Amino acid sequence: MTRITIAKGDGIGPEIMDATLNILIAAGAQIEIDEIEVGEKVYLSGITSGIKDESWDIIRNNKVFLKAPITTPQGGGYKSLNVTTRKFLGLYANVRPCVSFYPFISTKHPKMDVVIVRENEEDLYAGIEHQQTDEVVQCLKLISRPGCEKIVRYAFEYAKQYGRKKVTCMTKDNIMKQTDGLFREVFNEIAKEYSEIENEHWIIDIGSAKLADTPEDFDVIVTLNLYGDVISDIAAQITGSVGLAGSSNIGEECAMFEAIHGSAPMIAGKGIANPTGLIEGAVLMLNHIGQSSVAQKVKNALLKTIEDGVHTADIYNPSISKRKVGTKEFSEAVINNLGSEPSTLMAVDFKNGAALKLPPYIKKAQKQKTLLGVDAFVHWNGTDPNELAQMLHEINPEVMPLKMITNRGIKVWPNGFKETFCTDHWRCRFQNPEKEIITKEDLLTLLSNALGKNIDIVKTENLYAFDGKPSFSLGQGQ
Ligand code: NAD
Repeated sequence: MTRITIAKGDGIGPEIMDATLNILIAAGAQIEIDEIEVGEKVYLSGITSGIKDESWDIIRNNKVFLKAPITTPQGGGYKSLNVTTRKFLGLYANVRPCVSFYPFISTKHPKMDVVIVRENEEDLYAGIEHQQTDEVVQCLKLISRPGCEKIVRYAFEYAKQYGRKKVTCMTKDNIMKQTDGLFREVFNEIAKEYSEIENEHWIIDIGSAKLADTPEDFDVIVTLNLYGDVISDIAAQITGSVGLAGSSNIGEECAMFEAIHGSAPMIAGKGIANPTGLIEGAVLMLNHIGQSSVAQKVKNALLKTIEDGVHTADIYNPSISKRKVGTKEFSEAVINNLGSEPSTLMAVDFKNGAALKLPPYIKKAQKQKTLLGVDAFVHWNGTDPNELAQMLHEINPEVMPLKMITNRGIKVWPNGFKETFCTDHWRCRFQNPEKEIITKEDLLTLLSNALGKNIDIVKTENLYAFDGKPSFSLGQGQ
C-alpha cells in the first residue's frame, strides 16, 4: 500500500477527481488516501498561499500528491499554489507526454507522440523582479548548473527507460549566451554519456514552429522553464484538446501529479467535464509508485474507451464519436474496459515504468574567479550619452576606466547611433583594458565617487572571469 495525498481542488476538480479515484480503486491500485483542501476556499479564508500549514505536513509525509486543478482568485496578493508547490518541494522536472488519439479524436497530427521535459524551478519563474528607474523594470533569469544537469539527465534517463530514440534540446543560446548557453553546454556534455540516444538542438522559436507543424519529428524535448511552459501547452492542444493531457512534477523526495488544464469554472457542477487529463496524471503517479501493472491496465482501458467512441462533450464529434457521455458515465465505461486493450490505438506496455533513479548532483571543483570590472546601472534622465560619459569619467577609479555605455543592451557610447532610442536606464561598464585585477575597494571608490557627484547608481553587476574566461555578455554592437 502506498499512502498518497489528494486534493479535489476547485471548479470541475471534485468531479474529475471522483471519477479518477473510482477508476484507480476498481483497477486494484494499492493506495491509501489522505485528502487535503487547497485552492479557492483556502485563499478566500485569508491564506494567500492557498494551502494551510498542516496540509504541507501531510504532503511532505506522504511524498506523493495527486492534485485536481484549482482556481486562483482574481486580483493581486494571491500566490500561485502550483508554482509554490513545485519550488517548496524541489519538483525540478515537469513531464508532459502529449500523444494524439487519431483517428478517434480529431487532430491535424495523427502520428504525434512527444514528451516535453520542462525545467520546473528556475529561469524567469524565480519571480525576482524590480523597478529600477521611472521607465524600466527587470526580471532576473537565473539558471544554475545543478538545475541544468538534473533536468537534462532526467530527460535522457526518461528516454532510456521508455525506449525513446531522440532527445531534442531547445534554447535561445544565440541571444542568451550565458544562461541558455549553459543549458545547451550541459546538454552537450550529458548527451555524450547516452550514445545510444540521438540528440539535437533547436533554437526555441523555430523549434516551436516546427513542433506545431510536424510534431512527429520530435520524441523527447528538454527545455528551460518558460519555453517549456509555452511549448507543452502547444503540444497538448494540438493532440486534440488540453483536456487530454496529464503531467508529473518530479523531485528528489516528492512528486505531484495533475491534469494540465485548469478548473474550467464555466462547466463546473454540470457533470460534463472530461476526466482524461487527471486519469493520465494518475497513470503517471501509479508508474512512479511502482504500480506499473495497474497503470498499464488503467491506460489501456482509457484508450479502449476513447477508441469505442465514448466521448465527453469537449471531444465529441458526431462523425467519429458513438456516444456522448458525462464525466461519471465516461469513468464507468473505463471501469468496464479494465482488462481490455485497444485494437487500433497502440496499447501501452509499462513493464519499465517505475520512478527514475537519478544519481545525486556532484558539486564541481570551484573555479578561479577574477574580478575584471563592474557594470553600474545608472538612472539618468538626460538624452546624450556623451554627456553621461563626461560625468562618469570624473568618477571612475584610475584602474577601472569607463569602457562602454549601453541602453537596453545596445551600445550608445562610444560611437553610438543617434537613431537609437534611449530610456532613463544606462548600463555603464568600467573595466581595465589591460585585464589588470580590480579589487572590491575599487568598486567602493566608484560608488562613493558617484554619491559625491549625485550620480544615481541603482544596481551593479561585477564582471568576472572564471578560470581566465570572461563570463559576461558584450554590449550589442560592441
Ligand atoms: P481551463 O483549462 O480551466 O479552461 C480552458 C477551456 O478548456 C475552457 O473552455 C474549459 O471549459 C475547457 N476545459 C478545460 N478542462 C476541461 C475538461 N477537463 N473537460 C472539458 N473541458 C475542459 O483554463 P482557464 O479558463 O484559463 O482557467 C480557469 C481557472 O483554472 C483559472 O482560475 C486558472 O488560474 C486555473 N488554472 C489552474 C491550473 C491548475 O490548477 N493546474 C492550471 C491552469 C489554470
